[in-house]
Amino acid sequence: MTQQGRTVAVVGGGYGGAAVAKALDEHADVVLIEPKDAFVNAAGSLRALTRPDEWAERIFFPYDGLLKRGSHLREYAANVDARGVTLASGERVEADYIVLATGSGYPYPAKTRTDSTAEAVAHFKESHAELAGAERVLIAGAGPVGLELAGEIRDVWADKRITVVDPAPELLPGYAGELRAELHRQLEALGIEVRLGAAFDAEPDVEPGRAGDVRVGIAGEKVEADIWYRAYGVSVNSGYLGDGLAPLNRRGQLPVTPKLNVDGHTHVYAVGDVTDVAEDKRAGYAMQHAEVVAANIIAQVNGEEPAQEYRPLAIPVVLLPLGPEHGVGQIPSDEGPAMLDAAAVADWKGRDLMYGKFAEIFGVA
Ligand SMILES: Cc1cc2nc3c(=O)[nH]c(=O)nc-3n(C[C@H](O)[C@H](O)[C@H](O)COP(=O)(O)OP(=O)(O)OC[C@H]3O[C@@H](n4cnc5c(N)ncnc54)[C@H](O)[C@@H]3O)c2cc1C
Repeated sequence: MTQQGRTVAVVGGGYGGAAVAKALDEHADVVLIEPKDAFVNAAGSLRALTRPDEWAERIFFPYDGLLKRGSHLREYAANVDARGVTLASGERVEADYIVLATGSGYPYPAKTRTDSTAEAVAHFKESHAELAGAERVLIAGAGPVGLELAGEIRDVWADKRITVVDPAPELLPGYAGELRAELHRQLEALGIEVRLGAAFDAEPDVEPGRAGDVRVGIAGEKVEADIWYRAYGVSVNSGYLGDGLAPLNRRGQLPVTPKLNVDGHTHVYAVGDVTDVAEDKRAGYAMQHAEVVAANIIAQVNGEEPAQEYRPLAIPVVLLPLGPEHGVGQIPSDEGPAMLDAAAVADWKGRDLMYGKFAEIFGVA
């Protein structure tokens, strides 16, 4: 039987939700509401595309390894109010605390387009076959996802022609100039062409990720390719909430307080990409939000005042691998932004893409 007053419904089991659920498992009765059968480590999805035999299965971590006491309901939340969650099936989960962690969607292959691991693995294998035969690859979007995709493709295929196009005038705005210069240097050395300040005149007729005759105008010039990928277009997963709990901002994000309560609700919290915290949206930040929320809920469960607050970093962090051995990174230091060289980026992220971290969290041998 659940103890009275200690039920926590965590809605969404991505980076933020899984971390909150795990941190609260010993202290409360956690119900994780998440339609997928496994946590998806999106950081590995681009390598799952380019090296599916080694990587496609490695980015999925079944939820049955996450919680010792709590339960996982494979359901979508259809509505949330201050007292509980109504599921898409019509069932209701009453809760004393609610944590909204439904994150964001992103075009495949960066995020999966199914809730089943078996289907997602099959998609990566099919998409790999489409990519393998394409000589000229066009990537729309030169943010971290587009550039990482270019790096992963180059690591497997030395001779494909890879072009990344973006209307923005510079790469990674908001990060140190030194980081941008090193990024340009490595992209050039890897033979990845980047066209900035240039957009597609119209979207190609061919579906992204499918081999075909891709013809597109880029800044008035006709360009042909054998496959293209869309590496832009984050969509916040908050449509199911409407404005019922608090008015969403124009991006669809939930307004939160420094304690990460949804505005106006002392027992409803939000973490990760679904929040309006003013910072780039990152798994690392979602997991830090999770620590703050878990500490605040533990305090409330124990009859104490929640006191933890989340403050975005003044100097943003980025780790951007270009395949397993290359890439750039920036971390904060007392002297300002500190650069990480390619070897450090490979050690911290590029080689294992956080597999080891999640294998430990999910109890995978
Ligand atoms: C290719 C790629 C690489 C990335 N690499 C990094 C990286 O290396 N480092 C980094 O810090 N960030 C990285 N990011 C960003 C990172 O993935 C996101 O910031 C992160 O996923 C946000 O975590 P989250 O917990 O907020 O939500 P998500 O991870 O998006 O998880 C949300 C979960 O909610 C579930 N859900 C959605 N709707 C509902 C609903 N109605 N009911 C119940 N559940 C629902 C979804 O199924 C999903 O499991 C990367 C992103 C991409 C696309």
